[in-house]
Amino acid sequence: MERTTQLYEGKAKKVYLTTDPDVVLVSYKDDATAFNGLKKGTIKGKGEVNNVCSNHLFRLLESKGVKTHYVEQINERETFVRKVEIVPLEVIVRNIAAGSFSKRFGVKEGTALKAPSLEFSYKNDDLGDPMINDSQVLALGLATPEEIDKIKAMALKVNEILCDYFKEVGIILVDFKLEFGRFHGDIILADEISPDTCRFWDAKTGEKLDKDRFRRDLDDVDKGYREIKKRMGLE
Ligand code: UDP
Repeated sequence: MERTTQLYEGKAKKVYLTTDPDVVLVSYKDDATAFNGLKKGTIKGKGEVNNVCSNHLFRLLESKGVKTHYVEQINERETFVRKVEIVPLEVIVRNIAAGSFSKRFGVKEGTALKAPSLEFSYKNDDLGDPMINDSQVLALGLATPEEIDKIKAMALKVNEILCDYFKEVGIILVDFKLEFGRFHGDIILADEISPDTCRFWDAKTGEKLDKDRFRRDLDDVDKGYREIKKRMGLE
């Protein structure tokens, strides 16, 4: 398999077509954005951390029966993945109140939730990714009822597997965002799972080890990312 032409350049990744029509190559960049693109910057080494960590987690999820787009890592920054049609939903799972959940519902950041919370945002930059419910997803034809059920069940299973995994390496999985894709009639996990898309807190100190350091102008943003890779035993 070889890369051919560039298909797309996003905020944090470039995507290339390959000689296999079912496979694309994803190349992770160090570029970072937040607040719907209003804040821009770079985080040294972020691309490598996100690629290597995400691949590790996707392999773990595959081993537990979760179908993902992962095919093969090529190098520290680049990976072959299945070419999917992305379902235009951001699926957010939370274990602890933080960010927009804390603001919207007036719950202090750090409050443990009584059950995992699952919500959808409509993936649309022009609209600022608004929150959307199941009935609105159906009304807009963004997914079928069967797809919604499958996505929810998979997202909660991913949460259980990841919570157990991160607990063992001394990290609290506060919340995270998933994206799913359609592949030959099936729904599979796509995009990435990394410090860009998760809130990770050190279980001992509560220190933030994720993109919130960038969003909140804290120092040592790159160190937080590297620490996650280290805890995962990947360096
Ligand atoms: N998230 C993400 N991309 C987005 C929005 C959210 O990866 O476009 C992740 C975010 O990193 C966090 C979780 O989803 O781990 C919940 O985010 P929240 O809704 O609290 O929004 P935020 O506070 O990040 O604006």
